[in-house]
Amino acid sequence: MSDCIFCKIASGEMDTKLLYEDERVVVFSDIDPQAPVHLLIIPKKHISTLLDISAEDQDLIGYIYMIAAKLARENGIAEDGFRVVSNCNEDGGQSVYHIHFHLLGGRSMQWPPG
Ligand code: 5GP
Repeated sequence: MSDCIFCKIASGEMDTKLLYEDERVVVFSDIDPQAPVHLLIIPKKHISTLLDISAEDQDLIGYIYMIAAKLARENGIAEDGFRVVSNCNEDGGQSVYHIHFHLLGGRSMQWPPG
């Protein structure tokens, strides 16, 4: 997707410091952090929303959660706890239409979310 900002980050077209990269995903810090640790985990494959995940993406989505756990441990937030959030569409608070998983930690989270 030529006009997708997260595709541009994943491909290196947009200069962003990647904290983790492999053949399937990239991870970088959110530009507007909502917690002491606020990382975005995104697939390299362009998938617009959670509603667009297909059967062939099942492994990828599970893999992203595995990466989230690895990064939570590496960033020292695993033991106290953390949150993984994926917003979908307008009421869900999605602003970038390339699926991504917010990894948030380093402070106590509230429930329900706003
Ligand atoms: P959403 O609102 O779609 O759930 O999350 C999108 C997130 O992407 C927001 O938290 C926003 O701060 C972050 N974001 C938007 N544009 C950029 C960017 O160019 N670079 C980085 N690092 N984060 C971005």
